[in-house]
Amino acid sequence: MFQEMIRIDGSYGEGGGQILRTALTLSMLTQKSFELVNIRAKRPKPGLRPQHLTCVKAAQKISGAEVEGARVGSLYLSFHPKKVKPGSYHFDIGTAGATALVFQTVGLALACAGASKLLLKGGTHVPYAPCYHYLAEVYAPILEQLGFSFAFELRRYGFYPAGGGEVSVKIAPQKEISEPFELCGPYKTKKVKVLSVVTEDLPSHIRTRQAKAASEILAEKGFEPEVKLEKAWAKSPGTVVFVAISEGAKRAGFFSLGKKGKPAEKVAEEAVFAFFEFYKTQKAVDPYLADQLLLPLAITRMPFCFDTSRLTRHFFTNLWVIKHFIPDFSPEVRGDLDTPGIVSFLGTV
Ligand code: ATP
Repeated sequence: MFQEMIRIDGSYGEGGGQILRTALTLSMLTQKSFELVNIRAKRPKPGLRPQHLTCVKAAQKISGAEVEGARVGSLYLSFHPKKVKPGSYHFDIGTAGATALVFQTVGLALACAGASKLLLKGGTHVPYAPCYHYLAEVYAPILEQLGFSFAFELRRYGFYPAGGGEVSVKIAPQKEISEPFELCGPYKTKKVKVLSVVTEDLPSHIRTRQAKAASEILAEKGFEPEVKLEKAWAKSPGTVVFVAISEGAKRAGFFSLGKKGKPAEKVAEEAVFAFFEFYKTQKAVDPYLADQLLLPLAITRMPFCFDTSRLTRHFFTNLWVIKHFIPDFSPEVRGDLDTPGIVSFLGTV
């Protein structure tokens, strides 16, 4: 029987792993097969890396898909999904690749199919991906407004290079929503959460120095930091500072990671300065959430409006991928690359 096959060029725009993950999710949700060429063409090591392969294997497992090209280094993939089966699944990346990105590949598809449980192993706080706390404190609460309910638990931290972190997720069946989604700035609150985490094998003064530096810089600018310190157990040593703001339905989060030779104060500064850059734009949605929100919004097809401090290449690339699967998803985007923006859609339901 003839089946529609969508062809996607993985070198488009950002040219990274997100093109693959969005295509996998939407292929399962729309039951449209796709083939992806030039996978991650714009990355220093193009093709599927272990973390991307785990996303492919996870999507294949939950949807019984027929797949070609699923191996490390592959520049080509074809994916023919069947119906998504909710259940209890365990996916292990085997490296410090981000568990959050595996979750974002399968989470929405599972939620649309029923109730599931996931156990994910890999990195929980690694560069260029949402960290665990971002998922649990920014992404998940905002997706509640779209009818998605994800309950996260951090069982073990996972830092680069060993990974070995563990995250469990309880996924509830998606609920119908009838309210349009709106998330616009500015934030009026001055309360900001600061989390300083250091693994138990590193000196504990790093934890207090990170926290002290973050709260001093925030207080100087008139913010009221609420500070929490945490000792972590992990295979590789690591440190993180996570800074988050929330007001009503709005949430944004920023984190920075420690490494050998990088002063604790510098780790704190990076996270706080990223927050300041966001806050001064008076918008509600941080640049990361802006690209991550497009997928759940496209699935619900409800009217929405949000503003963001910066429209990134990830954002425009993700929109481009989504349109391959849902052609009538055509939000109005006011703003250009690397400027603040307003994104709105009248809905198709
Ligand atoms: P690569 O092709 O380099 O392996 P990748 O698989 O990591 O890329 P990208 O295409 O770069 O995937 O997408 C990374 C995703 O992680 C994006 O959705 C981005 O918004 C998100 N992200 C990156 N940094 C952060 C951060 N600090 N906080 C929250 N989300 C982040």
